[in-house]
Amino acid sequence: MNSFIIEREKIIANAEAIFSRAGDADVYAVVKGRGYGFGLNEYILLLHECGVRTFAVTDVADALSIKKLNLIDTNVFMLRSTSLSEELAALIENDVILTIGSTEAAVAANDIAISKNKQARVHIKIDTGMGRYGFSTDDIEQIYAAFTKFSALTPCGLYTHLSSAFKSRRITDRQIDELFAIRDELNARNVDCGVVHFANSAYLFKFGDPIGDAVRIGSAFTGRLACKGKGRSLSKVGYLESNICEIHWLSPGSKVGYGGAFTAKKATKTAVIPVGYSDGFHVEKARDTYRFRDCLFYILSDIKRMFFKKSVYVKINGKKAKVLGHIGMTHTVCDITNISCDIGDKAEFDTSPLYVSPDIYREFI
Ligand SMILES: *Cc1c(COP(=O)(O)O)cnc(C)c1O
Repeated sequence: MNSFIIEREKIIANAEAIFSRAGDADVYAVVKGRGYGFGLNEYILLLHECGVRTFAVTDVADALSIKKLNLIDTNVFMLRSTSLSEELAALIENDVILTIGSTEAAVAANDIAISKNKQARVHIKIDTGMGRYGFSTDDIEQIYAAFTKFSALTPCGLYTHLSSAFKSRRITDRQIDELFAIRDELNARNVDCGVVHFANSAYLFKFGDPIGDAVRIGSAFTGRLACKGKGRSLSKVGYLESNICEIHWLSPGSKVGYGGAFTAKKATKTAVIPVGYSDGFHVEKARDTYRFRDCLFYILSDIKRMFFKKSVYVKINGKKAKVLGHIGMTHTVCDITNISCDIGDKAEFDTSPLYVSPDIYREFI
């Protein structure tokens, strides 16, 4: 049976690297998207053991299921601003820290908190370039009002989200400067902003200074950063595991897979493994081709690929077995001519947990 194996030790080592880079800043673990594909409960418990005390989510159901774990000294933080009253009611009822990114959200949250006789802790979000949630940097009066005018809201943080930390110091610095300008203006009006934060994984590992009072880290725990070459101190966590279900010998001239993309030049011993792209193997993030320069970048990298063909490998008994032909929806064929292995032996597929089908069992080892 196929499963996704998650190595606890690697997560623990990544957490150590993250805490060490964060220094005095608090570490919030972002566990959106069902914990970046690791699943919630076991992952949350492990991160809690690693010292994480704030879990950030974007989904109300996830917030509530973390709350149910009843972990000591633990906060759940909703990263998405919402003006939806059903969402706000559930979050406030369960003492989840809210993100307030608009006056509408502040009004709705305040009304619901009053009706429930609750005091809601909130962080105020500023949009400095993501264009999703947050007050515009021009809305200083509304931001000031969000900090001071709502009796049932307790503001305890001010933050923004970086759009380009994986690639641009210039854009990133501009975003941070805009956040700091808002903080300074509020301080000048005697408002205590609480925890000021902006750093995500790419920022922490690529730049890291200034760092703010807290860092919000998701992908670094998985060891899979969006910026190439950074975070060398991290290890990639997780692989798909399956078993060889068939072994064959191909005679010279035989082909493999749709389109016959591979032709055996000599007698080749192959293993068939029932894992394919529907399980998440070798699935890539969708290409972002909105801008001309992105298209150009992809064309160039495709040309490069034409000349320097990059093979895909599967690990069998500790050895790298080359994938032959196109990967199928639920099948992969690989070359085991020089690998001693048998039907039933395990095969490991390096796969980002983000793309692994939620139906596949997550096993923590
Ligand atoms: C996803 C997310 C993060 C974490 O990003 P990583 O790059 O995975 O560390 C931080 N803040 C917000 C608001 C997010 O949505």
